[in-house]
Amino acid sequence: MRFSRLLIPTMKEAPSDAVLTSHILLLRAGFIQSSGGSGLYNFLPLGKITLDKVRAIVKDELDKAGCNEVHLPMTTSLALWEETGRADKFGKELLRFKDRHDNDFTLSPTNEEAMVNLVRQTVKSYKQLPLNVYQINWKFRDEVRPRFGLMRGREFLMKDAYSFHANREDMEREFALMEETYKKIFTRLGLDFKVVEADSGAIGGAGSKEFMVLADSGEDTIMVCDSCDFGANIEVIAEDEKVCPKCGGGLSQTKGIEAGHIFQLGTTYSEAMKAEFLNENQKLEPFVMGTYGIGVSRLLAGIIEQNHDDKGCIWTKESAPFSVDIIVAKAKNQEQMEAGEKLYAELQAKGIDVILDDRADKKTGFGVKVKDFELIGMPLAVVIGNDISEGKVEIIDRESLEKEECSLESLVDTIVGKLA
Ligand code: ATP
Ligand code: MG
Repeated sequence: MRFSRLLIPTMKEAPSDAVLTSHILLLRAGFIQSSGGSGLYNFLPLGKITLDKVRAIVKDELDKAGCNEVHLPMTTSLALWEETGRADKFGKELLRFKDRHDNDFTLSPTNEEAMVNLVRQTVKSYKQLPLNVYQINWKFRDEVRPRFGLMRGREFLMKDAYSFHANREDMEREFALMEETYKKIFTRLGLDFKVVEADSGAIGGAGSKEFMVLADSGEDTIMVCDSCDFGANIEVIAEDEKVCPKCGGGLSQTKGIEAGHIFQLGTTYSEAMKAEFLNENQKLEPFVMGTYGIGVSRLLAGIIEQNHDDKGCIWTKESAPFSVDIIVAKAKNQEQMEAGEKLYAELQAKGIDVILDDRADKKTGFGVKVKDFELIGMPLAVVIGNDISEGKVEIIDRESLEKEECSLESLVDTIVGKLA
């Protein structure tokens, strides 16, 4: 894509109500913008591209694990919520409204009821089990204190999966598979994370784990073992506990951003909603369930909390809106512009996501282009400047900010190598 054609309103300063680094940087770099109401954001082109990239990784790994993608309406009949008693329990986070016929509805904050309703209409026999159905869809929670941008919005993108089983052992098998699948997703996204034992909260059920993106700004306090992979949210372990219950090693306290949560749910929802299947002996039994969430839009904030410097965002390879920014220093110079166009076509032919900074207006000089590159945080920039007449360009690595000269002949191979 061409910078000159994309709506990328970068800013020197963020609005003063933004305090968290990722919120400030996502606003300043033109990924998101407040849409007016608190906790509601417009995703601008860069934000939408990045959100779609993260979403695609989540989908890819879930599909590989055998999950079924579906799409439910964001609007759910409150009658479904009454079947489980959660219409009362969920409280004010559940936004309710009526249609013209006076029927009660809610904007889904999570979709256990709606998904159980989907499955009870379709799955009748143990032969159709196990089944894991998921969607990547907008959720609405009327949070008491929406804040920190995408970290705690009111409307946010969640991947929510629900699994259905004939017995507990099979559900536990799927729970372990989802834990492994989540690890693959978080690893591909380039995140430093920790899986911790967690409280099951309002969703209910026994046995749950959270995926914490490690960051000092995280709202959760967790205890992690220095010697093994054990970790626990302080909601389930005493804050002064010093010894790891798994291996006897030392525990230390750190902060995390909850980006995913997996639950062993059991039969609470299926019993309440009479969601049953015929077992091998032709007897009706409630489905044994698991439920698995990932905060897809929160992940964007998490990636930036973990990867930034004083100049801006530093997106990880798989999350970056573009892998390479071709900066044409003087877009009015024909030789530079032609070299930029040629490289742009060559990189695209290699399947690399590339943006060509072809801006030629007076206000957008070379310095502005470099500043925007640093603020937006794509992994690499190629600067095409005066040295192009000698067949030379400069490559900038966003993370280290190191610059290196490169000849035109070896440029494409060098870039491909750096992105591998
Ligand atoms: P939190 O404790 O942060 O409020 P939660 O326990 O209410 O989260 P879940 O019900 O487990 O969240 O939802 C699944 C995932 O959705 C969470 O792990 C988180 O990544 C994301 N999420 C939850 N609430 C929000 C929100 N208000 N804004 C953005 N993402 C959210
Ligand atoms: Mg949770």
